[in-house]
Amino acid sequence: MLNPVVAIDGPAASGKSTVARRLAAKLNFTYVDTGAMYRAFAWLALEKNTDPADRVSVSGLVESAPFELTISGGAVHMKLDGRDPAPFIREERVNTAVSRIAAIPELREKLVIEQRKLRNLSPLVMEGRDIGTVVFTDTVFKFFLDADPLIRAQRRQQQGQADTVANRDKVDSSRAVAPLTKAADAILVDATYDDADMIVEKILRLCRERGLSAKKVDAL
Ligand code: C5P
Repeated sequence: MLNPVVAIDGPAASGKSTVARRLAAKLNFTYVDTGAMYRAFAWLALEKNTDPADRVSVSGLVESAPFELTISGGAVHMKLDGRDPAPFIREERVNTAVSRIAAIPELREKLVIEQRKLRNLSPLVMEGRDIGTVVFTDTVFKFFLDADPLIRAQRRQQQGQADTVANRDKVDSSRAVAPLTKAADAILVDATYDDADMIVEKILRLCRERGLSAKKVDAL
């Protein structure tokens, strides 16, 4: 039987990382941050002086750089081109480059394949931009987190991060392949005012109503 997947999509700084991480911990599922994967490739492109918007060069990078995902200790670990990119993927230069590289179809194809494989290893809470629309269209546990743009920009500032949230959302929503959009069957969750714990509880309740591994969820 297929492992269950809870899909959480939404724009930048909508609070989905915190919510997805806490939800995964409560369910004892593996938390998967797909943004980290696109960030890893943006970092590698910058390291190699490759233009993140150049389709041919980026395709070459995707083909030549080994990319590996493993799950251990309940978490996903990445290795790209023989290195652990995790320490570098929140850099400001990566924030600026990531949406451009994420629009390259060859990179998306590669990452979608790798993301789907994770389901064979564990039940997942996966967050991103296209989880409900592309990666796991079949899951019934599909959520789209949104929050007022002003609040989202403020959140990033409070986290001490220079991030062009509005810019990224614009590029992410307007790209030709897998644009950021709510899946027709995803439940919209407004995260403007509620705190993360309230949202986690709400999503848990909705998952339970939709039949998610009743034993685990009911036992909480
Ligand atoms: O989630 P996070 O804000 O770290 O994602 C960084 C960027 O990666 C997004 O702005 C988007 O360009 C890209 N992304 C994507 N598809 C996903 C996850 C992230 O295009 N599933």
